[in-house]
Amino acid sequence: MIAPSNPGNAASAAVTAAAAAATATAAATTSSGTRLADSSDATQRIGGQPSQPTPAPARDGDPRVQLLEGVYPTFVPRNPGIQDGVWNARDADMVRAVLLGMDLPSLEQLAEHYGQPRFRAKQLLEGVLKGAHSVEEISTIPKQWRAQLLADGVRTGRSLLHHSVGDEDGTRKFLLQLHDGRIIETVGIPTEDRLTVCVSSQVGCPMRCTFCATGKGGFARNLSAHEVLDQVLTVHEQFGRRVSNVVFMGMGEPLLNLPNVIRAYHGLNQDIGIGGAFITISTVGVPNAIARLAAAKLKATLAVSLHAPNQALRETIIPSAKAYPLEALMDDCSSYFRATGRRVTFEYTLLSGVNDEKAHAEELTALLRRYSLMSHVNIIPWNPVDESEFKRPSRNRVYAFKQAVEAAGLPCTVRETRGLEAAAACGQLRNQFQKQPLPQFEVPL
Ligand code: SF4
Repeated sequence: MIAPSNPGNAASAAVTAAAAAATATAAATTSSGTRLADSSDATQRIGGQPSQPTPAPARDGDPRVQLLEGVYPTFVPRNPGIQDGVWNARDADMVRAVLLGMDLPSLEQLAEHYGQPRFRAKQLLEGVLKGAHSVEEISTIPKQWRAQLLADGVRTGRSLLHHSVGDEDGTRKFLLQLHDGRIIETVGIPTEDRLTVCVSSQVGCPMRCTFCATGKGGFARNLSAHEVLDQVLTVHEQFGRRVSNVVFMGMGEPLLNLPNVIRAYHGLNQDIGIGGAFITISTVGVPNAIARLAAAKLKATLAVSLHAPNQALRETIIPSAKAYPLEALMDDCSSYFRATGRRVTFEYTLLSGVNDEKAHAEELTALLRRYSLMSHVNIIPWNPVDESEFKRPSRNRVYAFKQAVEAAGLPCTVRETRGLEAAAACGQLRNQFQKQPLPQFEVPL
């Protein structure tokens, strides 16, 4: 089951900051007496439809009530079961509750908070999973409660579709605009019997792998769990068919955002119904993170992006590898396999003239054999990125590398390049549109 958004992440930091600001300004109360965040903020969140603040008397000695001229005072909303006191991050999360990604007990608490029967929680969840982009669209709950939720800044957690491009082979790439105006990429890859979504786990990426367009675009923040679920729901809606597989191979390094990735995994599995074995988490390696992933006991596949068979070469391609030697990474992969019984797969992006020699393939298989990790190798012929010094290897070169890996007894596949990938490698489309948050944007409801 998934929990509400992580108070420790950057988004929550922003929320906390906003909450602090709210203490210094003012807030408003609903007609029902439910306490609200500051009215200007609520106005923004509900798309410019201001809720009507009800004047409430200031309370003596309450440090939160520092009035600006013309702003009505009120009291901040509290989490269920918590009495008046100092505003904290939990309160902020409550006010800006995001329904997508909340587990049923949390939704039941929300319903209870509003004096609604418990079964309403399930209606909220079903409404969002069935595609409501705003609380207003959840027609199974009473109209008056919908209005209250909207006025209190409760959001479904759905993003806005900013842009999309498609290819003849059916692959479609979507740019999604988040509530803070930032943009992420997500890709839907259909085949006859599958619909795979390649999800982003961060806005940008701090790892700066030299061959990657996302790495060139910089890093802004981690995604919350609901922002991952939203990507999958978007692809489901846009394709009009069930998503069967999810791979965390879009923008970002998932193991740098592990708590939210684990929450998203549970949401994908339990709320959206995607089998754990059909979810893949890909990493270039983050110290101490693989053991934490093993401890989470997920059924997902771990895919480790090696891209080089030795430390010296790897460091030139993946700068972060300097802080995480290849031997340590391979040790962690062995431990992961022993702890979970799940085979690790290895990704290897082939860069012409850099890591695509037969000798590299032999060194790679020797490395995997040494660590008893004779599992699957997935070769990814590099997709061109603007202003990059790398070149895509020839088809012959790719298949020679594959043969060399297979000759050593390892199962090996070459990732098929979809038409869209050839035209827009991961992160490239987003870089064309945005490196900074949009200066002006519509806030999702
Ligand atoms: S390859 Fe992955 S980890 Fe490396 S910069 Fe790109 S998104 Fe980040």
